[in-house]
Parts: sequence; C-alpha cells; structure tokens
Amino acid sequence: MIVMRDIVKIYKNGLLELKALDQVSLTVSKGEFVAITGTSGSGKSTLMHIMGCLDRPNAGEYFLDGEDVLACPEQKLAAVRNCKIGFVFQKFNLLPKLDAQTNVEIPLIYRGEDRSVSRERAARLLEMVGLGDRLRHRPNELSGGQQQRVAIARALIGDPPLILADEPTGNLDSRSGAEIMELFKQLNNQGRTLVLITHDQDIARQANRIIYLQDGRVIPASGGTAAKREV
Ligand code: ADP
Ligand code: ADP
Repeated sequence: MIVMRDIVKIYKNGLLELKALDQVSLTVSKGEFVAITGTSGSGKSTLMHIMGCLDRPNAGEYFLDGEDVLACPEQKLAAVRNCKIGFVFQKFNLLPKLDAQTNVEIPLIYRGEDRSVSRERAARLLEMVGLGDRLRHRPNELSGGQQQRVAIARALIGDPPLILADEPTGNLDSRSGAEIMELFKQLNNQGRTLVLITHDQDIARQANRIIYLQDGRVIPASGGTAAKREV
C-alpha cells in the first residue's frame, strides 16, 4: 500500500537548514494497522504530510497504492489524495453548522455524487460507527468521541484504500480514546489499511506494528517483529 524509500525533508529558515526527515524508508502492506510514533519534534507531522500527499519531500521515493506520488503534478496529486486517503485529524475538522449526516456526505458532494446516494451511504456509515440515532445532530450537540466517530465516517465515505489518522485521540478523554481505538481495530478487521500517528505510546501499542521515529530517522524497535521488518 505504502512504499517509501530514503525520504528526506529539509526545512529552510533563512540560512538555517533543518533535516526533519533523514532517509526514512518504510513500507505498509494492504490490511495492516501501523502506528508511527516518536517524541515531539521527531518528524511525525512532517512524515504525515508527505504520506498524505499534502507536502513533497526534497528527496526519496513514495509509492501509494501503486501510484508514483512524487512524479505526479500538483493537480493529479490532489486527485490521488482525494481518492486514496481518508484523513482523520486531532481536531475532528467538522463543519459546525452542518449535521452529522451532511458532514459525512461532504467528500461525495464535492465529487458531484447524487445526493440520494451520498445521504444513504452517510447514514449507513454513521450507523456502523454507532451513531445511527445522531444523524440530525450538529457537532456541538455531540461529545468529542462522537465527533471523532463522525469524522471517521467521513473519512470512509469515498471508500479510500488508506486511512491516515493524525493524533486522533489527542483531544479525547481516555475512555473516548479507547472507544476510537476499538473502532479502528474493527475497521482493520474488516480489511482496511490504517496508519495512525501518535506521540502516545499506549495508543501506539494497540496497532499491529509500531514504527519509531527519532530525530527524523526510523529507529529499530527493541525486539519484536517491528525491528526486523524495519531494518
Ligand atoms: P513532530 O510532529 O514529531 O513533533 P515535526 O514533523 O513537526 O515533528 O517536526 C520535525 C522537526 O522539523 C522539528 O525540529 C521541527 O521544529 C521542524 N519543523 C517542522 N515544521 C517546520 C517548518 N515549517 N519550518 C521549519 N522547521 C520545521
Ligand atoms: P494538529 O495535529 O496540529 O492539531 P490537525 O490535526 O487539525 O492539527 O491538522 C494536521 C494538519 O493537516 C494541519 O497542518 C492542517 O493544515 C492539515 N489539515 C487539516 N485539515 C485538513 C483537511 N481537511 N484537508 C487537508 N489537510 C488538512
């Protein structure tokens, strides 16, 4: 699903150069549930932006679901991002004036999909994430955990091959966070590929494999299969 080789990202601030990613290589197979973790400043956000086709590296190779991402011109890249990735963010990013069902429909509305199709699909996904009785509720009438479940339903609506979640439990209490992790495990059991970015080790451990970042490099995990697979 994801093949990255020797990804380098350098930020330039005047004369100062900072290597945020230093020859990062990793693979994620179809159907895996992988956590990428590391302390603040280790390069997680930078890697997430590149993985999500929101930013380009200075060097390296990136294949996403067979697409040579770095060879794509900007417009094609936006299309790749919209078709292949469902994003889940820390801050949910729901539109406050729209109800849950309409928020979930948005990606399909942008694609020009028939409204009867998008409404039906949104309702079905909200049911799947346990919010079948909350279709008409606006975000401020929902708890944080419920809002994140709406965001997850929205991420799924275009049926993307990859779900990319950036600190999805970061704004949630531990119980709601645990529920969101259970939902991710359920989605993974249904065969979906998930990449979760988190600084929280307890959250990361719930994935099937952990990739550790330190100072912009992938570091071998202590023991386990993760280390062997990453080296
Ligand atoms: P994390 O998400 O793990 O906290 P980041 O990817 O945000 O790590 O940052 C990695 C490094 O790159 C840090 O040293 C950070 O200060 C630096 N960095 C991130 N974004 C920028 C930017 N836009 N300009 C300059 N330096 C940046
Ligand atoms: P943070 O993790 O810093 O609290 P978010 O999780 O809200 O912030 O967003 C992470 C990054 O993804 C931000 O840099 C933001 O610009 C970008 N982003 C947020 N929402 C979207 C979106 N709907 N589509 C594309 N990129 C987004």
